[in-house]
Amino acid sequence: MASACSIRVRGVVQGVGFRPFVYRLACVHTLTGWVLNAEEGVEIHLEGPEQGLDAFVRELKTKPPSAATIAQIEVAPTNVAGFREFTIRESRKQQRPTVRVSPDLPVCDDCLRELFDPGDRRYHYPYINCTNCGPRYTVVTALPYDRPNTTMRAWPLDAYCAEEYRNPGNRRFHAQPVACPDCGPGFFLEQDGRFVCSNADAIAQTVTLLHEGKIVAVKGLGGYHLACDARNSGAVAALRERKFRKEKPFAVMVKNLDAVRELVLLSVEAEEMLGSVARPIVLAPSKTDLAGVAPDNGELGVMLPYTPLHHLLFASGAPEALVMTSANRSSEPIAYEDAEAVERLSEIADAFLVGERPIARRVDDSVATVGPYGPVILRRSRGYAPGAVTTFPTQDPILALGSDLKNTVTLVVNGQAFVSQHIGDLDHYEAFVAFEQTVHDLLSMYEVSPADLILVRDAHPQFASTRYGDSLTVSRTVVVQHHRAHVASVLAERGEWTKRVLGVSLDGTGYGDDGAIWGGEFFVGSIQQGFERVAHLRPALLAGGDAVARWPVQAAAGFLSQLTALPALAGAPFYFSKRYQYADQILKQNVRSFATTSMGRLFDAAAALLGFVREATFEGQAAMWLEQMARRVAEADTYPFPLEGNELDFRPLLARVVADRQRGCSPEEIARGFQLGIAYGLHRAITRFCDQFKVDTVVFSGGVFQNRLLLEDLKSSFATDSLTVWTNHAVPPNDGGISLGQAALAVFSGSNNVKHQDRDYQATAQ
Ligand code: ZN
Ligand code: FE
Repeated sequence: MASACSIRVRGVVQGVGFRPFVYRLACVHTLTGWVLNAEEGVEIHLEGPEQGLDAFVRELKTKPPSAATIAQIEVAPTNVAGFREFTIRESRKQQRPTVRVSPDLPVCDDCLRELFDPGDRRYHYPYINCTNCGPRYTVVTALPYDRPNTTMRAWPLDAYCAEEYRNPGNRRFHAQPVACPDCGPGFFLEQDGRFVCSNADAIAQTVTLLHEGKIVAVKGLGGYHLACDARNSGAVAALRERKFRKEKPFAVMVKNLDAVRELVLLSVEAEEMLGSVARPIVLAPSKTDLAGVAPDNGELGVMLPYTPLHHLLFASGAPEALVMTSANRSSEPIAYEDAEAVERLSEIADAFLVGERPIARRVDDSVATVGPYGPVILRRSRGYAPGAVTTFPTQDPILALGSDLKNTVTLVVNGQAFVSQHIGDLDHYEAFVAFEQTVHDLLSMYEVSPADLILVRDAHPQFASTRYGDSLTVSRTVVVQHHRAHVASVLAERGEWTKRVLGVSLDGTGYGDDGAIWGGEFFVGSIQQGFERVAHLRPALLAGGDAVARWPVQAAAGFLSQLTALPALAGAPFYFSKRYQYADQILKQNVRSFATTSMGRLFDAAAALLGFVREATFEGQAAMWLEQMARRVAEADTYPFPLEGNELDFRPLLARVVADRQRGCSPEEIARGFQLGIAYGLHRAITRFCDQFKVDTVVFSGGVFQNRLLLEDLKSSFATDSLTVWTNHAVPPNDGGISLGQAALAVFSGSNNVKHQDRDYQATAQ
């Protein structure tokens, strides 16, 4: 007697070879019925003997295709309709799509084998792909994910590809971007605005140019890369100069794992991350110095080839380590359209390796590392976006606009939180345009009308995202304070909606409830109840406007003005510039100065005292410099960083830095003492507040927690405690995670005081 059941599968189940997998599984168990892609995921109708149905469901759960992520499987008995065979039906589209779009996938082993098989039709074809690999998010223009809704619509399939595409037994069955040299797009090389050669010749010529020390713009999955030989210091220097990127480290794409191991020290976890389907840039301790690639930095960002084109370049003899940096000028978003790339990069690139397949949207490489508390994503983009990071307990559509720095946006639809790719700093016009596009993109892809939205924005009145948010007509707007969003991002990742925690949010800049620049904040509360600020860094003054974040000596002025008996800093060993005196005067006259509790600026002040007196050329540079310096010594005195009432007092900490520097201690030793002081001071404050407020879990978030030495020190301080520590794993601890936290705090915003003002809690002296 035959039985029947209907199965619904939700998660990343489209564009990852799911239907052919279901088809084959049904055939193996001699079951009949159908499978189709629907808005909510994949639907299956199955008929056959009971054991066959059971075995099918078991294998569906335990052996899904490698790129699929199953969020939920619902199985319900249904009537037997008497199907004679198993078929793959047309996609169905009736209502709002909520299926997850798959992130882009690296080329798979099967395709790589064909790529290098001279007898294969797709031998050396840079656009080879199958249902298990290839572009996804960067080619999708609408849902459901079918060929006409991709950037491949302009290339009709020839008979060969069409047969593979339609054959359920083939591994290219419904592989939407399928193509071959006869019917698909190709590559060509362009120099000085002129076509040079195409396909195999273009790749060979690119390899020659790279060996000659030239810079080639290479079209990738989510944008162009600027590539040059990482071991050619002249080429690297030229790239820095032309790109206006003085010191920020470049990422390096390395031929294979063996070659990676020559460059960096890889832990088991880091190696796993490097080879994961997201193929991120992984930061790891460097073993050799590639001149100019990552100046003053003990770490190197490495990644493995992930497109067929990358593999072809290396197989054709390209240098084993290539600088592969986002093709842009400093801080601009990555170029992804051919005309735009040629226009914007003509001064930088000596040649362009242009692929004909259009890119639907710009998606940068992701950056990740392994910290003492596990994986840390520093930039969540290609390979991760637009995957859903968590499930929300709401059916209301929510759009969270994030922070203006390292912007991402989050859209919550049908309880799934989709975090966008990294967009960048909205100060830049190009990035702002990308931000608007991403918002439109997500809303149209999921067919959400702005009028239905709960919109969430930062509290900063001058943010570009604030002005944009206020210009939209939405159902309701919720304003979320920056540092509360940081804390909430960690809890949202874990689906902890009601858990009461101590949230420690340390970063450079965020608009506080009182209009001050916050960045050293302690909160108690939960996502559901909201967070009450219970403590913070002792406030200091910042002199001047935005420049203070770029000039550590300028940031130092306000902190140092609170020290008694400060030596003259213009001479040895400090050599503070005029800018410091200027800032000091501003403070004395009490004009254009702002209160801050920013931990990021405290790190800047310490870095200035240790010798970082020039301008920082990228965000967080001085703090990174200090961390690298501290890493060079194993032991040092722990400097005092006491808790006075509800304020962590930086004065004794900086006084020791000044005194030890005057005494002639090495900057490395002082940096270490400073970092230990921060960790130990935080630990004492945290245990004290956890005790006082009866919480057993502490949450760390904010850009300062990108400092892995600080995390290591904290981890050893907490080793003997019973406290649980939670950090970000799915979204960055920096402002890239803000939009997720904002969205989370909006869920309960109707019923509580998420917008609550700071009551400036006075700690009861104990
Ligand atoms: Zn493949
Ligand atoms: Fe922040």
